[in-house]
Amino acid sequence: MTTADLQHLKQRIPLLDYLQQRHWTARRVGAHPEFVGRCPLHPETRPSFYVNARKNLFYCHGCGRGGDLIRFVELSQGVSFRQSIAYLQQQVAPAAHAELLEKAAAFYQLQLHRHPEAVHYLQQRGLCDASLIAELGIGYAPGGNLRAHLAAQGYGFDALRDIGLIDAQGRDTFCRRVIFPLRRQGCLVNLYGRSVGAAFPHRLLPRSKGGLFAWESVRQFSTVILVEGLFDLAALWQAGFRNTTAALGIHLAPAQFDELGDAPDRRVYIAFDQDEHQAGQRAAQALAQRLEGAGVAAPILHLPGGHDPNSYFLSGATAADFAACLQGAPR
Ligand SMILES: [Zn+2]
Repeated sequence: MTTADLQHLKQRIPLLDYLQQRHWTARRVGAHPEFVGRCPLHPETRPSFYVNARKNLFYCHGCGRGGDLIRFVELSQGVSFRQSIAYLQQQVAPAAHAELLEKAAAFYQLQLHRHPEAVHYLQQRGLCDASLIAELGIGYAPGGNLRAHLAAQGYGFDALRDIGLIDAQGRDTFCRRVIFPLRRQGCLVNLYGRSVGAAFPHRLLPRSKGGLFAWESVRQFSTVILVEGLFDLAALWQAGFRNTTAALGIHLAPAQFDELGDAPDRRVYIAFDQDEHQAGQRAAQALAQRLEGAGVAAPILHLPGGHDPNSYFLSGATAADFAACLQGAPR
């Protein structure tokens, strides 16, 4: 670990925040960003432990010990310098990952309108509502420029590789892909990239895909439409069916299955793709059975002409057409 890495780690966890999260109570001393409270390192009745919030340093006039956050962890937990750093890295990992994903997603979002091939692709998929594109946070990864952008913001090679945004050779994971951020309770958990070219169509970072897409807003509906992919979802949201969620695939993660079943009187229309291999339809039937077993009504939706929701609207279907399909679904 370099000196710069250590500085970065300490900036990520301000000493005062660290102490306050562990219920250290203090009062401000004078006009300086300095605080005093009872020493967490030795028993005392009168406060002699000072923290300078600007310098991120502490000093106790009672026991004579002082230093930075790493030193404080060493002393309070009785661990070595290396162990202290490892402990602090663990503390920041989830927050740091979410922060890095946010930076990447924001960068991709800015790129979207700078690359005609990206906007053209969205139009081709029938997605033209600018406010919906913004609401979904859709971006574009042209490839080859993320690393320099994030390096300028202090993110090193290792951080980008560990989270999967670049590979071991430093190449962008997402290249010529439309990007959808995946959130859970507002927190960014993953990025989904849809290839606009000939590359393998679907790509996620090697981490959890979270739960069902936009479940926080969809769960309030007593009738829910479950689709495979985000372009199906975008087409339905654009047509006014905001009760649509997406599983990002045909095989639900246990957390996604639990979400669908969390209200006993919910009805879930399953609208998976009707591909030539029938995999989507087999998965839909298996899922419907499991949901019915859990007490959730789960009719399977068959769209005319073997369409999936995205291609159905692209072929000229209207919201009323889709509503009629829902009406006509068995039970
Ligand atoms: Zn002390």
